[in-house]
Amino acid sequence: MAYKITDSCVACGTCIDECPVEAISAGDIYVIDADKCIECGTCAGVCPSEAIVAE
Ligand code: SF4
Repeated sequence: MAYKITDSCVACGTCIDECPVEAISAGDIYVIDADKCIECGTCAGVCPSEAIVAE
């Protein structure tokens, strides 16, 4: 189980610098690498669009 970025993402970039394991990649919609994610929840807490959810 990892965190996932949904279609609500507006690619603002807020989360990418907050991830301690650099699991987030930029794009039209940002993506979390489930193999790297340690499920800390930091990104979900900072996302202004509430686009990041636990799977
Ligand atoms: Fe990175 Fe933590 Fe978000 Fe996983 S939950 S992508 S480790 S900030």
